Amino acid sequence: MADVLVLAEHHESEIRKVTFELITAARGLGSPVVLWLGPGLGDTASAALASFGATKILLADSADVIDHPVAPGAEIVASLIESLKPVAVLVASSADGKEIAARAAIKSGCGIITDAVEIAADATATQSVFGGSTIVHSKVTHGTPIITVRPNSIAASESAASVVIEEVSMESSESAKRVSVTTRSVVEKGARPELAEADIVVSGGRGVGGAEGFTVIEALADSLSAAVGASRAATDAGWYPHQFQVGQTGKTVSPSLYIANGISGAIQHRAGMQTSKVVIVVNKDPEAPIFELADYGVVGDLFTVVPQLTEEITSRK
Ligand code: FAD
Repeated sequence: MADVLVLAEHHESEIRKVTFELITAARGLGSPVVLWLGPGLGDTASAALASFGATKILLADSADVIDHPVAPGAEIVASLIESLKPVAVLVASSADGKEIAARAAIKSGCGIITDAVEIAADATATQSVFGGSTIVHSKVTHGTPIITVRPNSIAASESAASVVIEEVSMESSESAKRVSVTTRSVVEKGARPELAEADIVVSGGRGVGGAEGFTVIEALADSLSAAVGASRAATDAGWYPHQFQVGQTGKTVSPSLYIANGISGAIQHRAGMQTSKVVIVVNKDPEAPIFELADYGVVGDLFTVVPQLTEEITSRK
């Protein structure tokens, strides 16, 4: 069976859920070969990758990969396209993932498709665009298809395989080492799930009215074990940290459930949440464009509706 190269998304030994989704998608195309850049690959991580069907793990944890962001990784992907000749390369649609994929596409002269939500057995990718109103099917016609896949688009399923680990040693070019990591600081993680990976996202916008208004959003999120998101209007106003912004210039989310509170539904916001499976809207303006995306909508003041919803959910637990 032909190899499919999957770039693992991980923080040290902690594997992001999207990696398992990518391996699941890769199984539909061939035999998943996982590229692990950097440290953290231990027995537990290898076993987890194997349980989803990885048949080989290529470990590249040289100092170059650790000390220089993105570019050395892109060189390794490009060189593996050359040596491994995979039928496709699958990468997460994260900031780093998309940058590595784009650089690897330029280096190897291969076509790239970003933000796929589905991949067919012949590597035809499906994208959902313009607020989910248009579905695009496209296929790379030049070289090895490099496809970035949105987290939460593909349901990960286990399929145990026996895995072999091979080390990849590759000297990075001088140009790949022009940017160095100078410091690393750990972002304090709360109890809530990571925004881009969360199964449920509860977001607030300008309608929340201020930083203190986000307490009602957080309470609803916590009742659902959800992540909190925000529109750019809310993050630019300093009501909620920028790392929680959803949209074109923020995070892309694709949860099972997205609850938009006091958000009008500008195209730039939709770009980051349009592939959510179910969308619930709470907005006092019945003409707000976000209602076009809604599966369920409540026309009302969020400060009345959201606490009632939280109370009802909590009482049913
Ligand atoms: P508004 O558009 O002001 O909407 C507020 C909504 O709240 C209204 O619909 C109102 O009816 C409702 N409301 C008010 N009070 C209540 C209440 N008490 N109860 C219920 N409803 C209430 N935006 C993003 O979100 N993410 C991005 O990544 C992003 N990137 C951008 C990139 C560019 C290049 C540009 C130009 C813009 C970008 N924007 C982005 C901004 C975007 O265009 C909108 O300005 C922004 O999304 C609006 O945020 P909002 O919906 O919270 O605010």
